[in-house]
Amino acid sequence: MFDNRYKQIVILSGKGGTGKTTISAAFASFENDKVIVDCDVDAANMHLMLKPKSEKSHEFSGGKKAAINNEVCTQCGLCETLCRFDAISDFKIDHLKCEGCGFCFRVCPENAISFTSSIGGNYFECELEDDSKFFYAKLFPGQGNSGKLVSEIKKSAINSIKEISIKENPVGKNTIGENSDRNNLVLENIPIENSNKVNPLHCSNKEYTSLNNLNENRSKFIIVDGPPGIGCPVNASISKADFAILVTEPTLSGVHDLKRLIELLNTFKIRMGIIINKSDLNESVAEQIQDHADEKDIPLLGEIPFNTAFVKALIEAKNIVEVDESVKKDLLNIWGKTKSYIIN
Ligand code: SF4
Ligand code: SF4
Repeated sequence: MFDNRYKQIVILSGKGGTGKTTISAAFASFENDKVIVDCDVDAANMHLMLKPKSEKSHEFSGGKKAAINNEVCTQCGLCETLCRFDAISDFKIDHLKCEGCGFCFRVCPENAISFTSSIGGNYFECELEDDSKFFYAKLFPGQGNSGKLVSEIKKSAINSIKEISIKENPVGKNTIGENSDRNNLVLENIPIENSNKVNPLHCSNKEYTSLNNLNENRSKFIIVDGPPGIGCPVNASISKADFAILVTEPTLSGVHDLKRLIELLNTFKIRMGIIINKSDLNESVAEQIQDHADEKDIPLLGEIPFNTAFVKALIEAKNIVEVDESVKKDLLNIWGKTKSYIIN
């Protein structure tokens, strides 16, 4: 059974270098009940900041690759002619070019081609100092299937929550345990199972406060540091997300990438908010971002002025909240605002 107190937040940026991972790691540090997933499997670096106390490695089967047995091959040349990816030459397969379609394996008249699973990378299940779970992965150079690897680590993260839920609630009837104090936080005449359906705008002040307390007590977080861009791994990282945070910066390419990301998230009907990092680099472009957010009815969660603490945190492999108090304060405010959107 999945613990529905967990809300899945994915942090995205149209391109790398916007501060997305630094911001994700900071948000993770503000919560006790969380699971963290670094979905940037092509260039994972969040583990350098989070410094897990333990990690368990798993192999990732990236797909199948073809190989020619030259003792059986009669050098008819059919496979070389038919491979659409030009991966075969001189009766050898170039594994960096082979897309694993299996066509050569099927057409070889001599059954000289094998087609077997290959290890495409590793993923790691880690425990942090505060005992929370953290997942990250490394795709081997030249391997495709980064979307599949992202799905794999997200599945492992969600399964780890199911294990926690079963331990916490072996009866399995209600993910909020029967003896939990949270059961006393029921709104007037609103049973706990219906509390999520209450529109806060229609509540009295007393009800609204109770609802906030109730939801606050219920919320735990899956914090997903998404890959950059809008490709297949991003699609895998936003699967089942409750809310997306888009980190952008005030440059023309930043605006362009942001617009593409907004379109993608709208396609999947995922709610979102925007953070403008390095907001004072170009105030007129920052205003353009704000205007676009207003036009699309997307909340601006916050702006962070340029601060060399981001670079310092990266160089020292530290969480930015340990490096700079003013950035920590800004990020705490932004996280609080984000939670109010997620919970309500
Ligand atoms: S199709 Fe089979 S026999 Fe022909 S060249 Fe390729 S591997 Fe060799
Ligand atoms: S599996 Fe597909 S891509 Fe790879 S060598 Fe065979 S035909 Fe080419």
